[in-house]
Amino acid sequence: MTKKNNIVKIVSITAIILNILLAIGKIITGSMMESLSIISDGVHGISDIITTIIALVTVIIANKPSDESHNSGHKRFGSIGSLILSIILIVISVSICATAIENLVHCDYSLDNKTSVDSLFIVSVSILGASILIKFIMFLLMYYGSKIEKSDAMRADAWHQNIDALSSIAAIISITCELFGIHFLDPILSILIVFMILHIAIEILKKSLTELTGHSINKEERNQIIEIVKKVGGNIIEIKTYIEGEKKRVQLILDAKDKNINEFSELSKKIKEELQKLDSDIYEITIEPQL
Ligand SMILES: [Zn+2]
Repeated sequence: MTKKNNIVKIVSITAIILNILLAIGKIITGSMMESLSIISDGVHGISDIITTIIALVTVIIANKPSDESHNSGHKRFGSIGSLILSIILIVISVSICATAIENLVHCDYSLDNKTSVDSLFIVSVSILGASILIKFIMFLLMYYGSKIEKSDAMRADAWHQNIDALSSIAAIISITCELFGIHFLDPILSILIVFMILHIAIEILKKSLTELTGHSINKEERNQIIEIVKKVGGNIIEIKTYIEGEKKRVQLILDAKDKNINEFSELSKKIKEELQKLDSDIYEITIEPQL
């Protein structure tokens, strides 16, 4: 395992543990306070945990030697798992949305100002506040990591931490307004948070569907691959390409009638080098000779 993967692993595991604790705390206090926006914020946390776990598993599987017999089986299993989880998230989002709309319809729009600051309120604000602080620290860590690793994906993840903080800030605003008898803000803010969850769920859904249906690399890049193989002296008999998530796989069968074993392995090495230079997302290249 390389240094890069170790950093990804440490940051991911820290994020998972913190997010699990915070999400559970939010869902419990949100339910006790009957605050939809805190519950939504908790569910948002759960969806982030799922995304992080998927990313972690992808890194681990991608680093297993490619000749392991059950490798593609594991990937498929992971994709089916992601598909089911994304559907569960969408169902939860829709049900929160439905409850929010119902609350909005039956909302008491008069300002009653009957609620007071109680211990539950303080616990909720503490959890949400801790969450915002941790998200900010995670943002700094991931942003720093993305600079070192020059990773766009990690930088995007870093900015996601700030969006997460916004979700918790919305929940704080909502329960504070509740204190002043403003009840309609909770369902409205929870719907906003649900949109964040839906966005994540749809991303997971799209990714798992792409993996399961096994898309091939687009025509333009496929042609580039063919060009490169020709340029280094390979004669293609068959080419197959696959996209699994963000990773790409290339299978080649080359004409090897006029080549001995050494010449062919030299050619294969050259092709692999050139293809990896073309696109670092190509993680597996298998080249077979046809005699
Ligand atoms: Zn999030």
